Amino acid sequence: MSARSQRDYYDVLSVSRTATPEEIKSAYRKAALKWHPDRNPSQKEAAETRFREATEAYSVLSDQQKRAAYDRYGHAGVSRVGGDAGINHSIFEEFQDIFGDFFGFEEIFGRGAGHGRSRTQRGADLRYDMRLTFEEAAMGLTTKIRIPRQDLCDSCHGTGAKPGTGSTTCETCKGRGQLHYQQGFFSITRTCPACQGAGQTVRDKCPECRGHGRVERTATIDVRIPPGVESQTRMRVAGEGEPGANGGPPGDLYIVLEVKDHPFFERRGADLYCTIPVSFTQAALGAEIPVPGLFLEERLAIPEGTQTGSIFRLKGRGLPDLHGGGKGDLYVNIRVLTPAKLTREQRRLLQQLGETLQVENRPAERNSSFFEKMKDIFG
Ligand SMILES: [Zn+2]
Ligand SMILES: [Zn+2]
Repeated sequence: MSARSQRDYYDVLSVSRTATPEEIKSAYRKAALKWHPDRNPSQKEAAETRFREATEAYSVLSDQQKRAAYDRYGHAGVSRVGGDAGINHSIFEEFQDIFGDFFGFEEIFGRGAGHGRSRTQRGADLRYDMRLTFEEAAMGLTTKIRIPRQDLCDSCHGTGAKPGTGSTTCETCKGRGQLHYQQGFFSITRTCPACQGAGQTVRDKCPECRGHGRVERTATIDVRIPPGVESQTRMRVAGEGEPGANGGPPGDLYIVLEVKDHPFFERRGADLYCTIPVSFTQAALGAEIPVPGLFLEERLAIPEGTQTGSIFRLKGRGLPDLHGGGKGDLYVNIRVLTPAKLTREQRRLLQQLGETLQVENRPAERNSSFFEKMKDIFG
């Protein structure tokens, strides 16, 4: 059974997602008093769990940075970003009146993720930020990433015992992994410090990991980024987080993508947008103009009498659609350039042309923006 709880932190404290720091603080105080193990001797286990949960939620939501990460990425955003969500130990001081000098609080919360004293523990999740070029995001890519993390020691397979030597039942806890203390009205269960909850101790320590069972290592992981990803796309690579404790399952690796802007294309989902300037005469007479596609140059025929702000769609010339399959479209916004710096001859020709053109100069309809126009045309 995994002790890892994934209840929403706002739910845990019964506050809204827009709660102010004061509201969060007062909600936590309420929860902490309600679930104080001291006050719930008859359901100590459950109370401890609730208490720990509330304290963890408060640790995250009371910290501006952690709260922002949590809002954005959920539990994965705070579980192990350069440390772990764990419990912010300044809480013990901030809520002195609640905690008092209650023996064993640090043990209830443990050092780290605060997921209690179950003997098997799921490993921590890891986060890896990855920057992609616009083209890489469009095409997808297969690459290797290097992640520094704790891995199980190969030589002892995580047991910490020198290969060939066994382990023996821990004498301190008699193999239970936990110690019970009676303190006033309530008893405290704490992880056995001699075996760290494993219930076993090793006689001869593994020389490779000096008995820790794990080693700091840079793992190389193959990742396949599918075509069509966007900034903030989050990919989970199951089981590539840190190993669990005492045979628990490993955590997951989250790859959070950031895609660089393109100097020419703007992207909305799988569709691409760009603006192409054409000359006054091309617009008037019609022309076939080159349009740089993302990978191949396209040709676009614009009809005679094309106005500035006209939008043409090149079907299927956008990006692969990450969700629905198929491809987006490429929208080309035409901008007609008024000729400037005319030669004497050009000026004469234009004047001659001008005499044959009749335009009544009256106010035109309000010029809607590019994207509003898009909606009108294709919406
Ligand atoms: Zn080892
Ligand atoms: Zn022990």
